[in-house]
Amino acid sequence: MQAAEPCCYIRSVRLCVLSSGSGGNSLWVDAGAARILIDAGLPLRETARRCKSAGLDVRELTDVFLTHEHADHAGAAGVLGRKLGVRVHATRGTLRALRDPPPEESRRAVRGGVPVCLEGLTVIPVGLPHDACEPVAYVVDDGATRAAIVTDLGSVSAAIVRALQGLDALVLEMNHDVRMLIEGPYPWSLKQRIRSDRGHLSNEQGARLLQDTLHGGLRYLVLAHLSEHNNTEAHARRAAERVLEKHGSRARICIGSQVRALDPVLLEPARAMPLRKARQLALFA
Ligand SMILES: [Zn+2]
Ligand SMILES: [Zn+2]
Repeated sequence: MQAAEPCCYIRSVRLCVLSSGSGGNSLWVDAGAARILIDAGLPLRETARRCKSAGLDVRELTDVFLTHEHADHAGAAGVLGRKLGVRVHATRGTLRALRDPPPEESRRAVRGGVPVCLEGLTVIPVGLPHDACEPVAYVVDDGATRAAIVTDLGSVSAAIVRALQGLDALVLEMNHDVRMLIEGPYPWSLKQRIRSDRGHLSNEQGARLLQDTLHGGLRYLVLAHLSEHNNTEAHARRAAERVLEKHGSRARICIGSQVRALDPVLLEPARAMPLRKARQLALFA
């Protein structure tokens, strides 16, 4: 007797924040046959070590997407391109500004708003204001689950808010507490740069962006790129919790770490799709 065909199809997106902060940023996403890193700010050896600690294998990576050229996001892009043979995607401005670019044959230029379709995952760059050549955030979408990685921006436009609707997971910059930054040890010029429209989001700005994109389907929220000197986990968490509580959201909050990988999170569709619908979606994947 033949086994009955399963009536539902579950696909999933796995996210793992390998590192977050000005000492290096890197986040693993896999779905279908795509295994990607968003940013390559850790040395290859450390990237491999953190992947292993999270049960992931760096040698399985297919693609790397860079948000911008700053060393804490792109320092290892050249090495990853050369040693792992992965495709390295970034805007033309970012590619031009890389200190150690990957080999030409592995470079892929992306443009804000133009989706990149991989096998099982679509990656959509979203233009951002930051003091870099052509920085972007990324939305990743497997047709059923949608997540975004949004760090290194000084201000939020209506277009950014529009691009971040309907998310299941959000990795969101909460760089600094304004008072701690103003009273803290940085030189005045650096304080001004961080606070500018092309700097970094404060906890309040991050909380506002969270409020503007929050909906009942958000399940996983990572507070990211916290400043070591100008923020605390408690400050950032309080700012996010206030928004979630006000709206009755049950999204889980985690805080990205500079020193260790967070536990990977498997995001399955909020509702399992009927098989026929899943097959139709797979045709377009
Ligand atoms: Zn950064
Ligand atoms: Zn930056």
